[in-house]
Amino acid sequence: MEVLKLIEAQREYFNSNKTKDIAFRIAQLKKLYDAIQQNEALLENAIYKDFKKSKFDTYTTEIGPLYNDINQNIKNIKKWSAIKKVKTSIANFPGKSYIVPEPLGVTLIFGTWNYPYQLSLAPAVAAIAAGNTVILKPSEVSENASNAIAKIINEHFDPEFFAVVQGGESVATELLKYKFDKIFFSGSNRVGRIIYEAAAKHLTPVTLEMGGKSPAFILEDCNLSVTVKRLIWAKFLNAGQTCIAPDYVLVHKSIEKQFLERAKQEIDNSHFTIEDDNYVQIINDKNFTRLAKLIDPSKVYCGGKADLQSRSIEPTILHNSSFNDEVMRDEIFGPILPVIVFENLDEVIAKIKSMPRPLACYVFTNSTSPKQKIITEISFGGGAVNDALMHIANSHLPFGGVGDSGIGSYHGEAGFKTFSHYKGVLEKGTSFETPLKYYPHTEQKLKWAKRIMGKLS
Ligand code: NAD
Repeated sequence: MEVLKLIEAQREYFNSNKTKDIAFRIAQLKKLYDAIQQNEALLENAIYKDFKKSKFDTYTTEIGPLYNDINQNIKNIKKWSAIKKVKTSIANFPGKSYIVPEPLGVTLIFGTWNYPYQLSLAPAVAAIAAGNTVILKPSEVSENASNAIAKIINEHFDPEFFAVVQGGESVATELLKYKFDKIFFSGSNRVGRIIYEAAAKHLTPVTLEMGGKSPAFILEDCNLSVTVKRLIWAKFLNAGQTCIAPDYVLVHKSIEKQFLERAKQEIDNSHFTIEDDNYVQIINDKNFTRLAKLIDPSKVYCGGKADLQSRSIEPTILHNSSFNDEVMRDEIFGPILPVIVFENLDEVIAKIKSMPRPLACYVFTNSTSPKQKIITEISFGGGAVNDALMHIANSHLPFGGVGDSGIGSYHGEAGFKTFSHYKGVLEKGTSFETPLKYYPHTEQKLKWAKRIMGKLS
């Protein structure tokens, strides 16, 4: 169906109020669950073709989280969509007040390629739970995964309710010409700005899930063996192509040597090698070339090999790194980990505060005060203490960026809220009316107004 016709059909469907019915929403979420389950093999094969993602990683980082997400939404949908009573001000006596959650309408979701199922379908789950219709454009970069998503959704859902539109920049540009009631985007800061500008023309609200350079602080009193294990896994999962991967490490000078030795050992133990079938490829030649150029041979502590034919880059640690290095200019988004040594925590915090706000921040320590200092002084999307990445696996936490790393959040109830409007309603009784606000206004009425309004309580 042509894009404009599709949008019009979805608007008509939304206006029919069908999606406002909670039973309908639950049925659609169950249908999505079943559709994914019936097609697990198709999804696994497609993503393997795109960038060699293993079955284990595909289940644990893509399909499993989607099942959890659907279950959580089904379980909570009644609670989240319930009308909530709130207090009524004295000026509105006699009356009651309540908040009515309502779906926004016709929504447009842009997925991206690095977790193509998760980043396309998790926002769609939230949009459906909140009662919207959805047009989803997965990323053309992960072509096979995108085809699999389109096949599954377009075979199981009515297009006027949930449709996948495939294509690259030209299709995205065409979609952005029209008015939507919400646009949800995951991807780069560069494209995020294009989306924001296009949405502004229609006053369409946006959620922008972007990236940034996410630091990991390794302080001198951390549990080093646990720290290294968690950090190395988080960095090299998906060959570093994870928006919340630790982009670089700030290690205290006193433990630099031990940290580097253990990190190398952990990489060896993990079988993260070009030959291993569990080690993910770089998504395309363009990204491979960009990443290969970031490896400064004079700074390689371990790894460093890049094989264009298989689009694989060894897990690489760069030591003696500094904020001035080329690798520190933009988000790396690949298996290269620069290690910067620091001595003074205040100085390094000040440096990070001078940079764009990161999507994530991690701190490995066993003491309270530096942990609190980092969490309160640095602005970042979300993060973890003594772990990395795993905050994303708790759907009770909102997930999103701040400043350059994003606008808005989702996951769990935050996702439901992202795709909802909260209508405030005052309902007045008619048995009684105070004359205070009506003309003529007298000195006596002013005295009463001052008594009622503006007092500190
Ligand atoms: P991208 O920004 O190039 O593409 C994302 C989406 O935008 C795709 O659907 C694509 O088709 C579309 N698009 C591309 N060009 C467009 C244009 N000119 N106009 C309109 N739409 C267009 O993706 P990328 O750069 O490969 O993604 C990597 C970035 O995404 C990294 O910064 C990463 O941190 C970030 N990211 C963030 C999250 C998150 O949840 N916060 C998740 C994954 C990736």
